[in-house]
This record gives sequence, structure tokens and C-alpha cells, in this order.
Amino acid sequence: MSYDVVVAGGGTAGVAAAVGAARDGAKVLLLERHGCLGGAAAVRNVLTLCGLYTLGEGTRTVVGGIGAEVLSALQKRGAVTPPMRFRGVFSAFEPEAMKLVLDELTQGAGVDVRFGCFVTGAVRGADRMRSVTYADHGGTVTVEAGAFVDCTGDGDLAHAAGASTRYGNADGVNLGTLGTRFGGIPREVTVTAPQVIEAVAGMGFAPGAVTKDRCVIVRLPGSGDMVLYLASADYDPRDAASLSRAEMDARRQAWAYLDAIRTIDGCSGAYLVSTGPEIGTRESRHLNCRHQLTWAEIEARASFPDCIALGAWGAEWHDRASYTSSFDYPPEKGAYEIPLSCLHSVDTDNLFCAGRLADGDRKGGAAIRVMGTAMATGQAAGIAAALTSRGAFSAAAVRDRLAAAGAILTADALV
Ligand SMILES: Cc1cc2nc3c(=O)[nH]c(=O)nc-3n(C[C@H](O)[C@H](O)[C@H](O)COP(=O)(O)OP(=O)(O)OC[C@H]3O[C@@H](n4cnc5c(N)ncnc54)[C@H](O)[C@@H]3O)c2cc1C
Repeated sequence: MSYDVVVAGGGTAGVAAAVGAARDGAKVLLLERHGCLGGAAAVRNVLTLCGLYTLGEGTRTVVGGIGAEVLSALQKRGAVTPPMRFRGVFSAFEPEAMKLVLDELTQGAGVDVRFGCFVTGAVRGADRMRSVTYADHGGTVTVEAGAFVDCTGDGDLAHAAGASTRYGNADGVNLGTLGTRFGGIPREVTVTAPQVIEAVAGMGFAPGAVTKDRCVIVRLPGSGDMVLYLASADYDPRDAASLSRAEMDARRQAWAYLDAIRTIDGCSGAYLVSTGPEIGTRESRHLNCRHQLTWAEIEARASFPDCIALGAWGAEWHDRASYTSSFDYPPEKGAYEIPLSCLHSVDTDNLFCAGRLADGDRKGGAAIRVMGTAMATGQAAGIAAALTSRGAFSAAAVRDRLAAAGAILTADALV
């Protein structure tokens, strides 16, 4: 089998990469280990789109192109809320609608989507990748391609290929948390963050029984279900034993949080709709790229000639030792530039990445990983890969095609 572009991982970044490449004329294969697209938006109960809007008073949209199409398709189904505000500005959506919208988007673009495929290996020459190997129930399959995009979040493709990667950053790795969905709470009941804090405190849990007591409180637009990002664990997602302990501990915590929520006025009928199904890893490997976007550059509103996307989310940090969170705003709560060079492998010419794999320092990476931004970096990485596969890559060509596809590339006016 041979393709122009192979994208590994079908989360928000991977879908945008695959569609971006296919619409640029490439023959594209998208490999996803689960049975649906969406990644965290589908299998981790991460049901709030961040990064689409600036965070100041006059909220402005910073993601066009495929991200805007996804938003519009969700709106047509009544499956997404208008922008809401907690620390940042975000829209909540129904995950079943997200899955369908992403199926339709990839089918419409002619992407060959393959579910149930775990990327297990890759071959790389001196400075180029040649093939990827995945495992399905039939055994293992090897596919050659002209260019590759790693959107696995964990950097599985790049790591298997022997491209330069690193785990987190030397000064920290963002905490993982199990997104948990609760039903049985009447729509007219408003649950607030202080109520959740008080409810958790009122349970008198033993130390370590639960990890966090505060997070955004999300109500979904269709079901009215409540989503909380509380049950957390310090683990290494690359190690199955560590991951398994974290999954079980976080699931146990989810039931403890349910007991606490039931003590809140109007919530006695609450029940657990779903956990995850898998724990949410905020940060794992990064691809080491030609540039690392730093928080200092974001704070300085640095301008890059190869800007291919805008970010607007802040440096959202969840600490592994204390389980506390912090949120640093970008300057003027406005948009900032993201360069293509932080998506382009430092040592492998035909390898790109997007989403949470993108190269950022501790706080820069924590800001650009969110799903709205992931769709913007994904589209750019996909177009870059398509151009690379036919020997026509340049940052200017990527920018031209993104602009023609409706991407927003100028931060100046977006405060
Ligand atoms: C608890 C939590 C809360 C968050 N809150 C928000 C929020 O409110 N708003 C927001 O926008 N973002 C939020 N984020 C961040 C956001 O979820 C991620 O940064 C975003 O999903 C990144 O998109 P991605 O496509 O890079 O990765 P993912 O969504 O993780 O997708 C990666 C995909 O790759 C697949 N994959 C992985 N390995 C392989 C392999 N070897 N072979 C084949 N497929 C593979 C996975 O199955 C998955 O589908 C949160 C994250 C967590 C964990």
C-alpha cells in the first residue's frame, strides 16, 4: 500500500490534518486506534472546545478553516453552545454529534479512514520517513507514504520512527485527568464551582481519596449532562502498568465525586453517565521541531514569517504534585502567532505533527494544545505534508493554501 500522506491519530488535530491534506490533492490514510474520530472529544469526555476565541471582553474568533467548519456543522445540529466563560472562553458540545461531524468531514474529503489500527512501527532513513506499520485484528500492515503527520498525542509514530522526541518538558509534565459525565441533574438546577468545592469538603474524604476539588462546571447542550474534570492521577502514559493504575484510581474517584455531588441541592438524583472512557493525558511526548514556541514569545506577541495558525488560550497548568491549577492569560487576552516550524520535525524532513504534540516549552505547550488550536495546527500540518509529498513544500506555499482555505493568520487585530 502506498499513500501520499499518512496521518496517525484521529483526534481533532488528526482529522484536520487528514482533511487539509486530502483537499490539497493528496491521497490520505488516517489511522486511528479507536472506533471513532475525535480523540479526547470522543473518548476522554473533553467536551469543551477551547482556543477558538480570544479571552477578553469582546470575544473574537481566531480559528477559521476546518475548525470553523466543525463548529458550524455542530451548530446546525444544535449540538454546541454559544461561547461561555470560566477562566477562558469555550463552547460545550455533544460528543455523539462531534463523532458524526468528523466522519462526514473526512468522508467528504475522500480520506481513507481506518479504525482499530494501532501504530506500532515505522521506518526512517537518514532524514526521511519511509513507512508506517500498524496492527489490526488481521495482523500487521506496512504502508509507504511521501509524508507523515503524527497526531497521536503521545508521539507514537515519531517515536517508532526514531525521530527526535522528548517526554513533556524538563520543568514539568501537565497532569492527566479523567473527564466524568453526570446525568440526573435537572436543567433548572445550576451547579456552581463553590458548591462543588463545599460538597467535596463536606464528605470528609481520607487524604488521597480524591485529588481535585475545583474545575470548570460544564452542562452539555443536548442532554444537559454535567461534565467535570476532577479525578486526576500522576502517571506515565507510555507505561501500561502506570496508565492502568491511573485509570482504575481515577474511576474510583469518579464514584466518590458522585457521592459528593448528590449532596448538592437539587442533585440527589445524579448518576454517573460515563467516565472517559479513558483517562485524559494532557501532555506526553512532543516532537522536537525546528522551533520551540515559548511562553516568552507568546507574551511578547512574537511575529513569525511562517505563522500558520493563531492561538488564544492561556498557559493552563495542572500540577502533578499538588493537583492545583493555574492559568496565565496571553497578553491583552488576545491572539498570538504559531509558526509552522514548531510542527516540523527537527531531523526528519517529511514528518510533521499537530495538536498536543506540537513543540512548545512548558507554558507555551500548555497554551497551544487545546482542541480549537489543534484543528488549526492540524490543517497546517496536513497541507505541509501534502506539499512535501509532491516536492513542493515551502512555508509560503502552506500559508497561501491556508489563507485560501479560510484560515485566520493575522493576530494584530484580534484582541
Ligand atoms: C482532562 C482534560 C481536559 C481538557 N480540557 C480541554 C478543554 O476544555 N478544551 C480543549 O479544547 N482542550 C482541552 N484539553 C486538551 C485537549 O483535549 C487536547 O490537547 C486535544 O484533544 C489535542 O488534540 P489531539 O488531536 O492532538 O490529541 P487527542 O485528542 O488525544 O487525539 C489523539 C488521537 O490519536 C489516537 N492514537 C494515539 N495513539 C495512537 C496509535 N499508536 N495508533 C493509532 N492511533 C493513536 C488516539 O486514539 C486519539 O484519537 C483537555 C485535556 C484533558 C486531558
